[in-house]
Amino acid sequence: MKVAKTITEVRDIVKAARGGREKVGFVPTMGALHAGHVSLIRRSVEDGCFTVVSIFVNPTQFEPGEDFEKYPRPLDSDLKICEDKKVDLVFVPAAGELYGKETLTWVNVEKLTAGLCGRFRPGHFRGVATVCAKLFNIVQPDVAYFGQKDAQQAVVIKKMVADLNMPLEIVVCPTVREPDGLAVSSRNQYLSPQQRKDAACIYNALQKCEQMAKSGITHSPQLIAEMQKIIAATPTVKQIDYIEIVDTQSLQPLDKITDKALVALAVKIGATRLIDNVIVSAGSG
Ligand code: AMP
Repeated sequence: MKVAKTITEVRDIVKAARGGREKVGFVPTMGALHAGHVSLIRRSVEDGCFTVVSIFVNPTQFEPGEDFEKYPRPLDSDLKICEDKKVDLVFVPAAGELYGKETLTWVNVEKLTAGLCGRFRPGHFRGVATVCAKLFNIVQPDVAYFGQKDAQQAVVIKKMVADLNMPLEIVVCPTVREPDGLAVSSRNQYLSPQQRKDAACIYNALQKCEQMAKSGITHSPQLIAEMQKIIAATPTVKQIDYIEIVDTQSLQPLDKITDKALVALAVKIGATRLIDNVIVSAGSG
């Protein structure tokens, strides 16, 4: 496994792999690697790709007052995981390698970033889209792998790639969960034991919504009220940012689930903001 800190090194290594006719698979991450990240790496390796992982805590996607400084950065164990999982190249740039003194060019994906998390983190998706565009330009992958866990991010990146005619495919992989259903996340390690226990309410609420929709209850306000009840009854829940039922492509709110819908939420447990989602079909049970 190679580890590169500079753009030039990445370009040279990827060029050589491509010369050997290898397909290039790319998994962008912020590190603190866990089973969710590993599922994306595994998929890239299984797809037969020369697999590139980036580890970069991207400052431009954090809002002021968020956890940029305290975000975990366990580089040695991340590199070990990458090595174990047969990653070919890890790109670990310093902030100055990706961003110059002043950035005047940003990627703004309109409409899709207005709702859900975008309403609570106004500059977040501009930072995400911009860093992904930069990384795609540097790595030039054939395929990039993203997690369904960050559903809005996956929709936004797919749209950016389509709108800007970027020559790569975006593959979205299923959310990996803990045994109690909590979506695996680097931020779960911020939770106290009690908060961690309580965090299971998030998936419980999503599952309840799934069951109700399958049994024929498809009116969104009723489904949302039920989820709100479950989550609000949990002692360490400090705030519900949103619980929404939206179209899986346009991310526009749906009054009723007729076919498929994205049920997405963001909840603060203590100071930790957790997001999760499921795709629900009406009456399919
Ligand atoms: P992050 O390091 O949080 O920026 O995540 C990097 C990638 O891993 C993103 O595409 C996420 O959607 C994906 N990811 C994070 N958590 C999970 C999970 N529990 N299951 C599947 N993918 C995940």
